[in-house]
Amino acid sequence: MDARKPRLLTGDRPTGPLHLGHLVGTLQSRVKLQDSHECFIIVADLHSLTTRSRRDEIARLPNHVRDVVLDMLSVGVDPSRSTIYLQSGVPAVYDIAILLQMLTPVARLSGLQSIQDMAVNAGLGDADVPLGLLGYPVLQAADILMANAELVPVGADNETHVTLARDIAEHFNDAYGKVFAVPQPTVSATPSLPGVNTVAGGAERKMSKSAGNAIWLKDSPEEVARKVRTLPGPAPGESTGAPLFLFAEAFLRDADELASLRAEYDRGGIGFAAVQDRVIEALEKILVPIRERRAEFAADKHRTEEIIVDGTITARKVAYETLGKVRDAMGLENLWSGLVHATQSRAEERKKPFYHQKS
Ligand code: ATP
Ligand code: MG
Repeated sequence: MDARKPRLLTGDRPTGPLHLGHLVGTLQSRVKLQDSHECFIIVADLHSLTTRSRRDEIARLPNHVRDVVLDMLSVGVDPSRSTIYLQSGVPAVYDIAILLQMLTPVARLSGLQSIQDMAVNAGLGDADVPLGLLGYPVLQAADILMANAELVPVGADNETHVTLARDIAEHFNDAYGKVFAVPQPTVSATPSLPGVNTVAGGAERKMSKSAGNAIWLKDSPEEVARKVRTLPGPAPGESTGAPLFLFAEAFLRDADELASLRAEYDRGGIGFAAVQDRVIEALEKILVPIRERRAEFAADKHRTEEIIVDGTITARKVAYETLGKVRDAMGLENLWSGLVHATQSRAEERKKPFYHQKS
């Protein structure tokens, strides 16, 4: 009997440190699922290049990579149970991605809201969207399928990408024989935490690293409070769906307290500042231990680099194995070995001129 735990893949772009949206969107499930799953956690630097490929942006990657790994460790991702790896350190994934592109209709990619949102956050007009950004979900499919991941915890913006990976896996398995596990997306109770209003319209969009509307896990208590206080108060009676109350839902752990806070607000008993106070208090309870753990890991020099190098070596092995299976299934390995085989009989003769020249 196969005692292997089912595999899971999830991760982040190293475009900045992690924020509260990550915490409730995927980080908490990553920590929980470490018991039941073999976790592959990608630091998706190639995906960062889809919107940030300038030299100065690439020069910032080492800091961002370190930040993302520290943030993961600070919330409880355990490197002895989870493989944390650098995407660009696994070149077999690019090979798999190219082959999967052949199975992906452009029409499945061009209308995706997630890609349009990323282009807007990166200040890219329609004419500037690079092919790599359009193909973002195909590269993500290659990440998921190379690891044979069965489960993919993501935020709402990434759910359609996992559905595409599912479709590509099924298409591939039908066409060439079963190679891939068919992945399943899973979203948390807060699949899309809104941003804060530190930028115009910040609270109307999802919190994003690239949108200037994030509360970072590493923010000081003062910064957290300042940012929460930018969240507007809805009209009494209209708390449902308002960003301030979405924060309350995400971070107040006691359902009865949440219900009474909302009821009080909606009947005009308390103002929005009181709700903000309660959210800030709840957040501090969650963030204090995270900040402490972050400081401990940060003090251990080069620990993050060690973790990511070890993880990347593991991921490389898995990716090369999968690439071999993909090439076999598609007949590409046969094509190459057929050509090599055909040259065997004359191999010695073909070498001779080379030896003669040398002597
Ligand atoms: P960027 O602005 O660079 O795209 P991001 O904040 O969107 O950064 P990603 O690295 O793209 O973060 O996303 C990592 C994971 O976190 C994805 O699964 C994504 O769906 C999830 N996620 C991101 N933002 C949120 C959010 N506001 N609420 C819930 N989940 C989120
Ligand atoms: Mg994103």
